[in-house]
Amino acid sequence: PTEAATKEPDEPADDRMGAQMPETTQTRQQIRAAQQALPIFKMRQGILDTVFASPVTVVVGSTGSGKTTQLPQYILEATNMAGKPLYPGSIVCTQPRRVAAVGVAHRVAVERGAVLGGEVGYSIRFEDVTSDQTKLRYVTEGVLIRELMTAPTAAKYSVIIIDEAHERTINTDLLFGLLKQALGRHRGLRVIVMSATLEAEKFRAFFSPTPPLIEIKTKPYPVECLHTIGYQDDYVDSAVNQVLEIHRAQGACPGDVLVFMTGQEDIDATCDILEQRAAELLADGTIAHPLLVLPMYGMLKAEEQMRIFSPPPPGTRKVIVSTNIAETSLTVDGIVHVVDTGLAKLKVFSAPLGMDALKVCPVSQASAMQRTGRAGRTQPGRCYRLYPETAFTGDLLESTVPELHRSNLANICLTLLKMGESPHAWAETGLFLDPPSKEALNCAMRHLWMLEAVTDEGRLTRVGEVMAVFPLDPVLSRMLLAGEHYRCLSEVLTIIAMLSVPSVWYSPAQAAEKAKAERQLFQSSPDSDHLALLRLYSYVFREDSRTSGKPKRKLQFVNMQNMVKAKKIREQIRDMAKKYGLNPATTTLREDNIKKAIARALLINVAECETGNRYSSLLTGAKGVIHSTSALYDQNVASRYIVFNELVQTKQIYLRTVTAVDPNWISDMRPDIFRTGSTGPVTRKSLALAAVPDNLGAPSVGPVMVASRDKGRR
Ligand code: ADP
Ligand code: MG
Repeated sequence: PTEAATKEPDEPADDRMGAQMPETTQTRQQIRAAQQALPIFKMRQGILDTVFASPVTVVVGSTGSGKTTQLPQYILEATNMAGKPLYPGSIVCTQPRRVAAVGVAHRVAVERGAVLGGEVGYSIRFEDVTSDQTKLRYVTEGVLIRELMTAPTAAKYSVIIIDEAHERTINTDLLFGLLKQALGRHRGLRVIVMSATLEAEKFRAFFSPTPPLIEIKTKPYPVECLHTIGYQDDYVDSAVNQVLEIHRAQGACPGDVLVFMTGQEDIDATCDILEQRAAELLADGTIAHPLLVLPMYGMLKAEEQMRIFSPPPPGTRKVIVSTNIAETSLTVDGIVHVVDTGLAKLKVFSAPLGMDALKVCPVSQASAMQRTGRAGRTQPGRCYRLYPETAFTGDLLESTVPELHRSNLANICLTLLKMGESPHAWAETGLFLDPPSKEALNCAMRHLWMLEAVTDEGRLTRVGEVMAVFPLDPVLSRMLLAGEHYRCLSEVLTIIAMLSVPSVWYSPAQAAEKAKAERQLFQSSPDSDHLALLRLYSYVFREDSRTSGKPKRKLQFVNMQNMVKAKKIREQIRDMAKKYGLNPATTTLREDNIKKAIARALLINVAECETGNRYSSLLTGAKGVIHSTSALYDQNVASRYIVFNELVQTKQIYLRTVTAVDPNWISDMRPDIFRTGSTGPVTRKSLALAAVPDNLGAPSVGPVMVASRDKGRR
């Protein structure tokens, strides 16, 4: 099943996208002129000749040169012009980020005067806007990987473009291997690798014969780079001050500002403070012109994302506060000032914690230079780095460590196993650009073993086979199967959907108490955040016969946009579950069953209470505190054991989304790993490890070995 198969049934794609189509202020002539002014335009024919003459082509060009929006169109036009497609099948262009896939598809549709979902469309996880007419699709890397899982020869594609290859996400790296294999099986396939930086040689060396290199040369304007004297305590605060200072000093001079901030929360905070302070300064006359402050991050609605591209009203300065998406994926014209915190929120696998944790990290020198370059696209600019000059060479790595080397590999191991491949063999036969270490692969295999997805020998189990089918994190697909097992699939579907969207709870600093009171309406049993999510969902979406007729209380501190997203996701996973013979209607009145299903998937994250809100993970010994927004915070919960969904490391380590569990459940589920006993003068049940894992829940029963290539099995 591909994500493309998960279209929402009763919403015609065209209508829906018609409503979402961004307004364009550009006329056709203006659009054509802008296209022709792009550096890539002069190279059009040369690019087409090369691409069709060689199986793989590597294209490098600085950001904004027109790679993403133009090159796929050139190929589309060339195939259209030939009357019949030069190569039967479709053109896909991958993006590491959902927001970029959607944004670029919108833009290309506008440029072509087309309806999105017609000739040009996009597919991202849980959202497919394509039709039979679609020839050019912008997709996330994950979508293409899932399509290749069922059709590894890539027979239905004519041209596959891997865009933003320099980002080196886990999925980029996996795609490189999959496409290298596919090229050997599907002769007509054309692969184009596009990159914004000069990592091109590595990409070329990966393929044989060595593919041709096309360089799109641009001449950027000079950017003056300024650093702070010392390190900044509060990067939100110093970014706000820097923007206001630029605005004050520049007066009516044109030139917009791009701020590189960490993640959604910090961005929202920066925007709020900036707007408030700008209004005050405007009122007292310190500044003479208003600011138009716009956030930019992945979870923003498409229409809101498109706003960043519109010019500001006359006399107003536009300030875009963005994640690292604006580093290379999206190019906004008119930026003259860049304010760089030097930070990004990254998913990092932490060996001591034994899992991925979201962490605010310093960016690499390469990223910092990309950010700086954003100020010099249309005229000379300035970059204000909010860190001292010595930090650039002293603290920053030269380039970002590929995600594959800083993440849990469980998901890609599961994908490879499902395709009949061995992750270890992949590493040995040169199918990874930079192979992960043996330990990292073993660690991922142990993770899958904890989820019962692989046997002691590292072969996919029946559970693992089914898990791999769902476009979900392995923990969540395991939870789904456990929901079936404990006869509460309906409830578990809801929980999974709620865990698949950004936080639905909204807790502004000024109204923290009110937000807490509202949250507590759903934390009626104070031992599970997962159940609170379930209750909230039921409250918002289910017509309860007892309460119908009474108006529902309006929730002030719940992000309804994310709730609606969760509902759509739930419907899609439900349909997929049904297709795989599970019964999504099974429901239970026993909360314990739901908690067991949650625990089964989160065995790797069992933690024991040390004192108060402080817990330590049984398997890794990692310590963290329950966040103050949790239902369990400051509560006297009967059990000393919890499972947690996530670790977030900010000033300290927080356990996020937790549920209290009965130790007996845990030892019953995996007596090979856990055993219960009793401790203390007052007999209390305790949980301990039956087998001492050498590393992250390693089984004591022999090392987890990895299956050799075993094609017969499938
Ligand atoms: P590259 O992929 O080489 O970085 P792009 O194809 O993304 O370059 O961008 C080319 C040009 O298209 C840029 O000048 C950019 O400003 C413009 N552009 C891209 N998306 C939009 C949009 N949504 N609205 C207006 N202009 C856009
Ligand atoms: Mg691009």
